[in-house]
Amino acid sequence: MQEKYRYVILGAGASGLSLCGHLLNAGVRDRILILDRKSTFTDDRTWCFWSVRPNPFAELAVRCWHRWEVLDTNGSRARQASLAVGYACLRGQDFYDYAQAEIARHPNVTLRLKSSVESVESFPDHVQILANGTCCSADYVFDSRPSKLPPPPGDNALAQRFFGQFIQTDTPQFDPSRCTLMDFQVSQEHGLHFFYVLPFSPTEALIENTYIQDSGTHGLTPDLHRAEIRSYLGELHGLTDFTVQREEAGEIPMTMSAFPRREGRHFFIGTAGGCTRPSSGYTFQRIQEQCRQIAEAAQAATLDTFHEQLAPARYRFFDGVFLRVLRDDPGAFPGYFYQLFSRVSPGALTAFLSETSTWRSDLQIMRSLPLGPFLRAALKSMRG
Ligand SMILES: Cc1cc2nc3c(=O)[nH]c(=O)nc-3n(C[C@H](O)[C@H](O)[C@H](O)COP(=O)(O)OP(=O)(O)OC[C@H]3O[C@@H](n4cnc5c(N)ncnc54)[C@H](O)[C@@H]3O)c2cc1C
Repeated sequence: MQEKYRYVILGAGASGLSLCGHLLNAGVRDRILILDRKSTFTDDRTWCFWSVRPNPFAELAVRCWHRWEVLDTNGSRARQASLAVGYACLRGQDFYDYAQAEIARHPNVTLRLKSSVESVESFPDHVQILANGTCCSADYVFDSRPSKLPPPPGDNALAQRFFGQFIQTDTPQFDPSRCTLMDFQVSQEHGLHFFYVLPFSPTEALIENTYIQDSGTHGLTPDLHRAEIRSYLGELHGLTDFTVQREEAGEIPMTMSAFPRREGRHFFIGTAGGCTRPSSGYTFQRIQEQCRQIAEAAQAATLDTFHEQLAPARYRFFDGVFLRVLRDDPGAFPGYFYQLFSRVSPGALTAFLSETSTWRSDLQIMRSLPLGPFLRAALKSMRG
C-alpha cells in the first residue's frame, strides 16, 4: 500500500521547515511528510533580517544589532541607529534544532532524512512523489529543491557570492554593539565587492567576503576568499592572530526572471519559489511571508485557488531599476549605498529593505540617489 499524506514538503531547509512550523501554528493537524536528501542537520548558515515584521523564529535570534554602519571605499562611515528596529541574526543550528523539536511534539508530522526525491508528478486530484525508489502520494506538495531555478537569463542576472568565517580572537577586537553591513574598502576590480562583519562578542565575529557579479563570472575559490579575509583583517583591522571556528558559503541569484510558483497541486517555495529579493539577495523574511500565506490558505482549504503576494508590486519595479543600474555601473554603488545610509532615516530605509515602506518614505530613498541613472533605468524598465 502506498503511503498517503495531506501535505508533502520537499526539502528540510529554511522554507520547508518554516512551512511546517507555519502549518502547525495555523492549527493544521493533517498528515505531513518532510523529505530531505541530507543525512543530518549541520550549522551551515546564518540568517539575518530586519526585525520589522514579526516572524515565528525571531525569538531564536542570537543577536540583534540596533546600530549598524556602511563604509565607502575611502573609509567614510555612514552610521545609523534605531531603538525600534534591529538587524537580527539566527544561527542555522538553532533554527534546525527548534524545528526538529516542534516536529517531535507533533505526531502528525514525519521527517525523513536521507530521502532523495527523484520525481514529482502532479495529477488533478493528487501528487505522486518518488524518493529513494519508493512512491508516496499527497494532496499537495511544497517543493524547495533547487532544481526548479530558471535558466540563467544571460545579461540580466547577477549573483551574490559570499564566503564567511566565524573567527575567534584571544583579546577583545570587536564592538558587538554595532555591525558592519558593507565595508567597501577593498578592490572593486571583479564586481561590487564588500565585507560584512557581524560581531557577536568582543572576541567573536562572522567576517564575510561578498561579491555581486555577473552570473556567468567564475573564479572565486574558497582559498581565494580565505586569503582575502586574512588580508582584510590584517590591513583594515590590524588583526593577524585569530582562529577560524566555522565557515559558510553561498551563491544567491539576483535576477528579475520569473520563478515557477505552482504546477497544479505542486507548489514551489523558498529560493526555488522566487522568494529571493532580486536587489538584495535577502530571502528569509519573504520565506516567512510565503509560508504564512500558504498555511492560512491550507487551514481555510483554499489552496486550489491560492495565489501568493509576497510584496506590493512596486518593489518589483524598484528592484528591476536597481539591478539595471547595478549591472551597468557597479563601480558607482559603494557611493550610492553610502548615500542611502547617510541620508535616509533608519526607519524609512529598513522599511524599504523589508518591503513595508510607504510611498512617502520611498520618496526619501529616491531623493538620496542621483536622478539621472535611476531615471534612465526606470524608463528602460517601463519600456520592457
Ligand atoms: C550561507 C548562506 C547564508 C545566507 N544568509 C542569508 C541571510 O542572512 N538572510 C537572508 O534573507 N537570506 C540568506 N540566505 C539565503 C536564503 O535565505 C537561504 O539560502 C535559505 O536557506 C533558502 O531556503 P530554501 O528552503 O529555499 O533552501 P535550503 O534552505 O537550501 O533548503 C533546500 C533543502 O532541499 C534539500 N534538497 C535538495 N535537493 C533535494 C532532493 N533531490 N531531495 C530531497 N531534498 C533535497 C536540501 O538538502 C536542503 O535541505 C543565505 C544563504 C546561504 C547559502
